[in-house]
Amino acid sequence: MNDIIIGIDLGTTNSEVALLEDGKVTIIENEDGKILPSYVGVDENGDLLVGRMARNQFIVYPERTVKSIKRKMGEEARVRLGKDEYSPQEISAIILKRLKDMAEKHVGQAICKAVITVPAYFSDRQRQATREAGKIAGLEVVKIINEPTAAALIYESGHKGGKQIMVYDLGGGTFDVSVVRIEDDVIEVVSSHGNNQLGGDDFDKVLVEHILAALYEMHGMEDEDAPAASMARIERAAEAAKIVLSDHPFASVEEEYLLEKNGIPVHLQMEIARHDYEEMIELYVDETMEAVHIALRDAGLTVSDIDEILLVGGSTRTPLVRSRLEREFGMTPRAEIDPDLCVAGGAAMQAAVIGGQQVNAVLVDITPYSFGTSALGEIDGEFSPHVYVPLIKKNTPIPVTKSEVFFTAVPDQKAVDVQVFQGEDKVAVNNIEIGRFLVEGLRKGPAGSEIIASFALDANGILKVSAKEKATGLAKSITIDNAIARFEESELEQARHKVRKLFGESDEEDVSGGGAGVAAEEGRKSHAAAVQAKALIEKAEKLMDDAEDEDREEMVELIELVQQAMGEADAGRLQDAMDDLSEIIFYLES
Ligand code: AMP
Repeated sequence: MNDIIIGIDLGTTNSEVALLEDGKVTIIENEDGKILPSYVGVDENGDLLVGRMARNQFIVYPERTVKSIKRKMGEEARVRLGKDEYSPQEISAIILKRLKDMAEKHVGQAICKAVITVPAYFSDRQRQATREAGKIAGLEVVKIINEPTAAALIYESGHKGGKQIMVYDLGGGTFDVSVVRIEDDVIEVVSSHGNNQLGGDDFDKVLVEHILAALYEMHGMEDEDAPAASMARIERAAEAAKIVLSDHPFASVEEEYLLEKNGIPVHLQMEIARHDYEEMIELYVDETMEAVHIALRDAGLTVSDIDEILLVGGSTRTPLVRSRLEREFGMTPRAEIDPDLCVAGGAAMQAAVIGGQQVNAVLVDITPYSFGTSALGEIDGEFSPHVYVPLIKKNTPIPVTKSEVFFTAVPDQKAVDVQVFQGEDKVAVNNIEIGRFLVEGLRKGPAGSEIIASFALDANGILKVSAKEKATGLAKSITIDNAIARFEESELEQARHKVRKLFGESDEEDVSGGGAGVAAEEGRKSHAAAVQAKALIEKAEKLMDDAEDEDREEMVELIELVQQAMGEADAGRLQDAMDDLSEIIFYLES
């Protein structure tokens, strides 16, 4: 039997082990899952704890627990663990040994070889220390590879030709960004930059501060230090809230009997909005963007030279991170492969290549389309009632659930019309409408009441969409079977027909001039413009009553101009008149 070589991501916060089985990457699980927290401890009896159990006791018994040992690799340091002292290599070896045991249990045979990943910036000394740790754990380290190289390997296996890739890696305690060049089978790290003291732990810390501030205010406490056990619960709750906020606009934090004040139990109950959380972490994300530009500069490249961005590390699930990269690079970063696991997977692929195994490309279940709804907003700086807001983005692994908050547009709004679209166009009505429903009976009140839309797509392509008025819980939902099915041209036409009918238009309006393809495209555009124009007119009419005479007259004139231009199918004039009308609406609304 061939020697099995495992691939190991020996991380600062978490570690993983993977191997290739039947040409496919398997990330190995133990009873706690696929992620082994990089914590080592001893319990009150002196017995060894590795992973989750060690992490759980860290806050309460820091003197008996070691975390983030990777930061000390290559140093002549000693760390205390209970009664004894250990070198960084020895602590890392304990983690490696646990990973080795997990793999051996999985395959049912002894394993003594591994590929281990290290950050691109690791010095020779740090790499040597990693090899030594392997040896102590009973593993021959057949190769040390860079973490960004491993990520590129798993994403790009089988890629032919040249490509320049940016690997953005934001984990729990460290951040690295690397520019990687691929030329057929050769992967080279061209430049790398980062901060080994920046990561998701910092996001947790700002949330802990926010929770403590709220707790002190609610219970009239003054900067009293909460006891260690309460702090541990707050830290756990902060991380959980952070993870919820990656997929939902609000997270609630509830901890009963958190502590006592003057003998009275104190319960924690609060809500955190994603919007507020994003403000709290903005400076950290800014810092990562600066590093991105430094790495580009060091590689002698600019944003436009990058063909792809790969997301690595659990904290890259943060929407603010993704949207900032998207804005900066004008492309959606790739994250189809679990960002926590792709480095270990890449190490396993490298291990398989060394072992002479056949390696297949990694396949994951992803949605080939985006799904979303429509809202009022701006498109290219202009007001539009049909801004497409994709909740589930193309290439997201499924199953997935995402929710987003929307706001009522007018005072005493009675209902919200939820349209469900499949597609990528930033104008919602240019996508395919696959469902629609009305939530009626909203509570009376000013505009801006929160409506939470939620999209859940399962592995069978069934999409459940719900919308809920946050203040009252009033909700409605629909289920769309076969949401992922590719729409044939005939079905597309049917969908367009349905939308036109809703606006009382005939099909002939769309087909004018040019060849068939152009006609369809033009038709789509003029249809979209007509829909926008109608919505603008409606909006202007609603604002008329409260407008000054001068503004009202101007709006009446502009509405006429819009209607004339629509009647004469003059796209240029229509756009000009709509621009002017949007401007005045925008002015009146603000
Ligand atoms: P890693 O070191 O790559 O395993 O990343 C661990 C970090 O990712 C920790 O700070 C986690 O709290 C964070 N993390 C995991 N899942 C999410 C999520 N859904 N959204 C934001 N951060 C996450």
